[in-house]
Amino acid sequence: MISVAPEFETWMEAPAADELRLIPIGGLGEFGMNALVVHSARSLFLVDCGQLFPSDDQPGIDSIVPDFAYLEPFADRLQAVLLTHGHEDHIGALPYFLRRWPVPVYGTAFTLALLEGKLREHGLDTGLLHPVKDYGRIKVGDGEIEAEWIPVTHSIPDACALALHTPQGVLVHSGDFKIDPEPLDGRLTGLDRLKALGDAGVRLLMADSTNVGRPGRSPSEAVCRDGLEAAFEQTKGRLFVTTFSSNIHRLQTVVDLAYEFRRRVVLLGRSLDRNLNLARSLKLLDLPDDILTDVKDAQLFDRDELLVLCTGSQGEPMSGLARLLRQEVKGLRIEPGDRLVVSARSIPGNEVSISRMLDTAERLGAETSLEGLGPVHASGHGSRDELADLIRAVRPAQMVPVHGTFRNLRAHGKLAAELGWAPERISLLDGGLCLRLFADGRLDMPGTVPVGKCFVHEGVDHMVDARVVKDRLILQEDGVVFATLLVDPQTGDLAADPTILSRGFVMLSDDESYAELLSGVARKAYEEAPSLVRKDGEALRDTLRLALRRIIRKTTQSRPLVIPVILEAPGS
Ligand SMILES: [Zn+2]
Ligand SMILES: [Zn+2]
Repeated sequence: MISVAPEFETWMEAPAADELRLIPIGGLGEFGMNALVVHSARSLFLVDCGQLFPSDDQPGIDSIVPDFAYLEPFADRLQAVLLTHGHEDHIGALPYFLRRWPVPVYGTAFTLALLEGKLREHGLDTGLLHPVKDYGRIKVGDGEIEAEWIPVTHSIPDACALALHTPQGVLVHSGDFKIDPEPLDGRLTGLDRLKALGDAGVRLLMADSTNVGRPGRSPSEAVCRDGLEAAFEQTKGRLFVTTFSSNIHRLQTVVDLAYEFRRRVVLLGRSLDRNLNLARSLKLLDLPDDILTDVKDAQLFDRDELLVLCTGSQGEPMSGLARLLRQEVKGLRIEPGDRLVVSARSIPGNEVSISRMLDTAERLGAETSLEGLGPVHASGHGSRDELADLIRAVRPAQMVPVHGTFRNLRAHGKLAAELGWAPERISLLDGGLCLRLFADGRLDMPGTVPVGKCFVHEGVDHMVDARVVKDRLILQEDGVVFATLLVDPQTGDLAADPTILSRGFVMLSDDESYAELLSGVARKAYEEAPSLVRKDGEALRDTLRLALRRIIRKTTQSRPLVIPVILEAPGS
């Protein structure tokens, strides 16, 4: 969401010599589309550049990316993008961003490996990608600011927090994190380094607020093994497991269990294939030899010899699981005695499609209940006690909750207050709201800069205007009404009764009396329009549209798209 704060009027002027601006242009007050602008007189870069997946009320849209309007006046100054990790809500907008601003991108190996594939698909230069190691540092731009990658545990390998060493002090950005004491790869959250930074003094901490509402600690990724193992034990038929294809550690657990229970592994879904190969080549995943089996050979194995890993945990219609449920996968189907395990959370907004997917699986005879299995999923985000641990480790002068709904951000602010942070040391940012840090220790929030969402339709080079999306919604809800007026160019009078045509509108196409009513309204609106309006096509169409909308709303309670068409009658 966009903040309700007043506009930062002089945002187009470059920052003063001692000033550093932090501006979230996405990812605050909403989930997804994380992008933070860091801007000083000498530096300008982004931390993360994510996308938002469209919901049902954005028909025909493939992805939603931040509006980068703030960067336009400073376009030639942009230096880099720094990435915390490879989730779509942190890297997904880069193919669109880099087309406009081909700047260097820094991140850890797995993050960049995921991004590299996307850039290839979009025909973009992968030479822009620069890998950074855990605890590695790079100088951004002219070297005024140094960035440091600190490992954190999360539901994807190679996730990091960032420490930015700036003239205004050290800023820590947590990225998405939890403090898992037992990560599968043994790569622990770098709490020691964060504490050391805290000892030396941290000016500001921006921290993940996603699970602030959950008490205690987030369960370790290691606990998922128990629930998944129970599923293996209790399943006589085929076992289907769906999870996010970037959750390599979860996939490792499932593959390990398949090996122990002597089941071959079939992969269903393009991103699973791709991500497993990437993880394998980076030695982040250990696959026993010959455990993978092609789907077309699935029939060669007994049902209790197969484990099928598939994409589609959110009910995505093009996923491996969805194709399976539609019985479109040759040689493999779900049958009574099989079990489907969804080893993922439902992302808010996907509940309906997930429920539909489970229903279909049950209809085919599969068991989908997780009852009695134990945990099959662990969140990648830290709960309350972990968020408190981070605040206490870093001990920032200023605490800024990020990543989550506005309620999450506020709750995270309250948590800091409970830990003893005074109200003036907690800043609640929101989409587009600018926070300024000055070298002398001052801090202020001068207001908002332009932010918003851009809609992407694959195959269309430019962004889709928000109005197009709104029109589609109206079409879907209430249909469309065309009113065609034939005007005599000599006299300026109507040459015939206006004709009314509709599609998807409550009025049936053969309801002549209603069409006549609308035709009469259009005629009256035309005849009563001042001659100036009549001569101005745009104004005339507006007048007609208004009159028709008013009568339609009054008589049918609906609001279809109304399109007046004005034609000149052929010369007589
Ligand atoms: Zn995230
Ligand atoms: Zn994440």
